[in-house]
Amino acid sequence: MSMSCISINDIRNNLHTCFMGREIIYLPETASTQTVAMDMARKGAEAGTVIITERQTEGHGRLKRLWLSPQGNIYMSFILHPNQNELSRLIMAASLAVSFAIEDTTGIMTELKWPNDILIKGKKVCGMLIENDIRDGQVNSSAVGLGINVNTDMQTYPELRDIATSLINHTGKPVSREKLILSFLHEFERLYLYLNEHGECVFEMWKKRLITLGKEVDVTSGRDIYRGIVETINPDGSLRIRLADGNLVYIMAGDVSLRHAD
Ligand code: ATP
Repeated sequence: MSMSCISINDIRNNLHTCFMGREIIYLPETASTQTVAMDMARKGAEAGTVIITERQTEGHGRLKRLWLSPQGNIYMSFILHPNQNELSRLIMAASLAVSFAIEDTTGIMTELKWPNDILIKGKKVCGMLIENDIRDGQVNSSAVGLGINVNTDMQTYPELRDIATSLINHTGKPVSREKLILSFLHEFERLYLYLNEHGECVFEMWKKRLITLGKEVDVTSGRDIYRGIVETINPDGSLRIRLADGNLVYIMAGDVSLRHAD
């Protein structure tokens, strides 16, 4: 499908942030924006630097799962240097920023699924990934990666038909990727700057949009699978789940997969 490219000039000319997106690395195609971001982060890139591409040949989600990345959508990764305080809530700030930006640009309301998905009517419109560069036990930098399905109908991919959606499926007309990226950059900077001193507020806003609380879920952790009800979302983003036998389990985002059972 022929489709125009993202106008980086348009983004630069309309950007009013202090640091988020001030340095844009635009690549027509790349294996994975996360790989580029992690590499640049290790070499000392400035906080707020973003890598944007039109398509990825090896885009990945958590646990190295493939993220299908054809032309027409948004694929970008940010380099940040969060402190310990900000780290556990980075995913909350990024998720909320996507949610607000989609609402602002298209009027569509989204739902957040723990820990890193953004849904419209139960289908994934955006996936997110945070990877950290750890040195001497401390986080030196983080790469926040986002894939947002915008103008390419992802339901034409048989394996995604039942689980994915794109903004165009709901708007009926193409969405300006420049406007969406600009809105995201402004929201993300605002929320990120909030994290250090007002992290609790970001947590509360995130929790309000999260559809996972109270749901019956299947948790996959390595070879173990268990079902339970999500009883509590803790301020650090972890979940407390009550199993059918009454036992409790606590899970962090890291290496578990979670499906809503209904
Ligand atoms: P789970 O929902 O099982 O916990 P996850 O949401 O953490 O997984 P990720 O690892 O972040 O998933 O993303 C990879 C998964 O997302 C793939 O296994 C596939 O099911 C799905 N996927 C891949 N490409 C896309 C896309 N462009 N849009 C929506 N979903 C996609």
